[in-house]
Formats: sequence, structure tokens, C-alpha cells
Amino acid sequence: MANENPSANIHSDPQKRTKIAFFGLGNMGAGMAANLVKAGMRVCVYDLLESNVNAFLNQHPNNKDVMGAAQPDEAVKEADFVISMLPAGKHVKSLYFGDETSGTKGITASAPSSAVFIDCSTIEASEARDINQQMLLLGLAFADAPVSGGVAGAAAGTLTFITGGSEETVSRIRPVLETMGKNIFHAGDVGAGQVAKICNNMLLAILMAGTSEALQLAMDNGIDAKVMSDIMKASSGNNWALQVYNPCPGVMENVPSSNGYKGGFMVDLMNKDLGLAMATAAKHQSLVPMGSLAKSLYQLHSVNGNGGKDFSSIFESLKAKR
Ligand code: NAD
Repeated sequence: MANENPSANIHSDPQKRTKIAFFGLGNMGAGMAANLVKAGMRVCVYDLLESNVNAFLNQHPNNKDVMGAAQPDEAVKEADFVISMLPAGKHVKSLYFGDETSGTKGITASAPSSAVFIDCSTIEASEARDINQQMLLLGLAFADAPVSGGVAGAAAGTLTFITGGSEETVSRIRPVLETMGKNIFHAGDVGAGQVAKICNNMLLAILMAGTSEALQLAMDNGIDAKVMSDIMKASSGNNWALQVYNPCPGVMENVPSSNGYKGGFMVDLMNKDLGLAMATAAKHQSLVPMGSLAKSLYQLHSVNGNGGKDFSSIFESLKAKR
């Protein structure tokens, strides 16, 4: 094991602190990497956009435990853990294993054999399994660990991690994930984290559309949205959207619907996850009629120019056009 006690990071000898190579300082990754720094780890970051690396370094002035790498392989040289938070599976594969067409080598060629690779991106489960097959051939440990909790959760260190990997690998990465999140689940073997995540998000899409539909039907029949929400919350229709994320403007404070559907979880990201859910369903011929309908609704909503809005804006698309 690279570090017998990774949670004991504030070590007087910097060389003995847990070393992380972190790839992808976007909306999610920047907050996650900052929490690793806060926990006392030595963090070397890399992003294709140099401006993202510079912004991260500027947030940690005079901190010798925070470094920026000019090239991906520089970041992993001494890493105990390699974390990726990238847009899609193709980015993770090319980062790990290189790209034949451009002749670039992947970071797996430069990482110590003791390093554990953790991919937190949301990618297809089959891609995570393909990556694991290649990692096994290279003798490297790998786990998928997609997240739920959004940009706010990434910044606050309150993400939910849904991991897939061997018992041994997941127990090794747990202390690292605990510095970035408050719930760490182990769903099964590699790929299971991705499957569990998209099952949850498919249900989220369905329940948000269904809740919006019920609220609009009530309003079309003269019932106030807040009154209807209170009735459903105390009845069998109660759900997460009604409790903390009401899609109807004005019913709840501090939610995207009461802020012009700004912030939150974008329609286009929900579409990405629903696409992954449909691809996963197709592999085993799983029946997902509700998920498939939700995918069509969100896709149409995006095509109508709403891709950048929070996903609860699906409510707007269900308004009667009279
Ligand atoms: P983002 O586009 O803001 O960030 C991705 C970053 O990766 C960018 O800065 C990009 O420059 C960088 N990048 C791309 N290829 C790279 C490479 N080869 N090496 C280094 N850096 C590279 O995306 P995000 O919103 O941070 O999402 C990241 C992942 O997390 C996605 O898979 C997304 O589905 C998932 N996710 C996002 C949210 C959310 O609310 N944003 C919530 C849960 C999960």
C-alpha cells in the first residue's frame, strides 16, 4: 500500500504526506482539488486549459504543497493517488493510455506501480470496465467513483461518491474520497459506480418531470402551487423535488426555480446522464420506458434553447400554451 494511513496527512515531513495527481480543474474538479489541499495533501494539478491551472495556483499562494504540472506525466511521477474529473470516457482513456494518432503517451506509463487511479468523471460503465481491463494488464489499481452533489457539493466537500472496484482498492481510496465528500458508497465491481449513478439520475429526471406535471395540472385547475406541494409532501406523492428542489418558481426560496433556473444541474448534463442510462439499458435490453420518455423531454427542452438552465426548468416546458 502506498500510504498505510492516508488520513494522517498533516505530516511534518512533506515527503510523507499523501501525494495526489489531479486532472481536470473544471466546475467540479477545482472544488474537489481544493478540498484535498485543505486536508493537507500534496496536490499536483493538470488541466488542458492552462488558465484553469493558473487560477488554482493563484488560490493557493505560497503553498508548497500545491503544484501545477506543465505536462500530464509530470503530475503523476510520485503520486500515491491519481484522480481524474473529465468530461467523458474518451478523455479519460486518452489521458490514461495516450493517443495513437497524436503519438502521446498516457500517464499510466509514468505513474508509480503503487499508485491507485480513481476516475470521478461520469462515463459509460462499459468504458470504465475497458479501462480496468487495461489497468489490470499494467498491474495498476483502478476504481470508478462518479459523484452526486453538483458544483456546490464539490466546493463544500459534501459530495456523494458511488464507487466501483475491488474491496481492497475501495478501502484504499476511501480516506481520500472522505476529504471531498460526506457519503462514500461501494456499489460493486468496476463499472458499478457508473451504473448506480445513472440509475439514480434517470430516476431524478423522471421524478422532476412527474412532479412538474402534477404541479402544473393542479395549477391549471386553480390550485396554488405551494398548497399543492404541501399536500403532496404529506401524501404518497412526496419526493426529493418537493422536499428540497421545487421546480415551480416562488414555492421555495434558494432553489434554481426561484432564481430564473440559474445554477444547479444543467439540462445538458442531465441529457448526458440520460444518454448514458439509455446506452447501459440497451446493453442488457433493460426496459426503461419512463427513462426513455424523460430523455426525449429533456432533449426537446435542450433543443428549444434551455440546455444551460437548471434541469428543474423542465417545469416551464409543461406549461399549457393557451
Ligand atoms: P467541466 O467541463 O467544467 O470540466 C472538465 C475539465 O476537464 C475542463 O477544465 C477541461 O479543460 C479538462 N480536461 C479535459 N480533458 C482533459 C485532459 N485530457 N487532461 C486534463 N484536463 C482535461 O466539467 P465538470 O462540470 O467539472 O464535470 C466533470 C465530470 O463530472 C463530468 O463527467 C460530469 O458529467 C461530471 N459531473 C458534473 C456535475 C456538475 O454539476 N457539473 C455533477 C456530477 C458529475
